[in-house]
Amino acid sequence: MIPRPFEYHVPKTLPEAFALLGEYGDDAKLLAGGHSLLPMMKLRFAEPGHLIDLGKLVELKGIREDGSEIRIGAMTTENELIWSALLQEKCPLLVEGARQISDPQVRYRGTLGGDISHGDPGNDHPALMIALDASFVLAGKLAERVVPADGFFLGTYMTLLEAGEILTEIRIPVPATGSGHCYAKLKRKSGDFATAATAVMLRMRGETVEDVRIALTNVAPTALRASDAEQYLRGKPLDDAAIAEAARLAMAICDPAEDLRGDVEYKTAMAGEMTQRALRVACSRAAH
Ligand SMILES: Cc1cc2nc3c(=O)[nH]c(=O)nc-3n(C[C@H](O)[C@H](O)[C@H](O)COP(=O)(O)OP(=O)(O)OC[C@H]3O[C@@H](n4cnc5c(N)ncnc54)[C@H](O)[C@@H]3O)c2cc1C
Repeated sequence: MIPRPFEYHVPKTLPEAFALLGEYGDDAKLLAGGHSLLPMMKLRFAEPGHLIDLGKLVELKGIREDGSEIRIGAMTTENELIWSALLQEKCPLLVEGARQISDPQVRYRGTLGGDISHGDPGNDHPALMIALDASFVLAGKLAERVVPADGFFLGTYMTLLEAGEILTEIRIPVPATGSGHCYAKLKRKSGDFATAATAVMLRMRGETVEDVRIALTNVAPTALRASDAEQYLRGKPLDDAAIAEAARLAMAICDPAEDLRGDVEYKTAMAGEMTQRALRVACSRAAH
């Protein structure tokens, strides 16, 4: 319950934030919504000497459409995602996913950028971002780079973010009109992390799959893109046999950790079940 003492910094601009990161190096942690970092500090799993609060950086807020992309500031909260008319209309998968994250209080604080940067396989945004073909703007003191979500998650709590970098913006290609979507999440209770979950984006041409993206949550050290299942489905009718085979291919890449949510066999089977459900719901929502 009691974190170690730390110094608290509130930069007003990004250059100030980079200067603080440079000054305090490994002893500093960025603070976003604080709903992963502070729990870890209270248990003394993390003991930074300096917290750099990103809360006053207005340039890290907001959701807007820019050409063919939706651009979301890293400090945008889960509730702001849920309430966004733009996302409800053009990117409902993100709204459906955010609604299943934690509880209302946590969603007032927790941010999209924090959920992604944390690199916890239990978090929901990593798979949602892979399914949405998102990319991330990683800004350093001198330059910024844009990296795809698919490939960003390297291991448990490990991402492509390097020391001194800040995730500033999330970019999502506006999904094609008529796309179907679904985030199917199995959890023990409201506010819990997934036992297993699957995010799907789907485009149909008649009864045939034109394109599909599938990503899995909490069934491996990182979120997983189910590429074999995607490849198998493209150009095929989405019938029971195809859905079952896609689920089998998704289960084949699972490598879950055994814990109180279940053993390896159960979590793997549930990843298959969530994949089947997400594909069926996405298909029912897609234009044919
Ligand atoms: C009871 C409870 C239930 C929860 N259930 C879920 C759930 O079901 N699904 C889910 O996805 N999450 C869940 N969470 C986690 C929650 O969504 C967190 O808010 C989220 O994981 C981290 O976001 P944050 O803004 O709070 O980040 P913080 O806790 O402030 O930061 C997390 C980490 O990311 C780093 N960081 C933050 N922002 C940036 C940035 N812009 N650039 C670089 N690094 C950055 C920080 O330095 C820190 O290491 C739950 C949390 C609680 C307390």
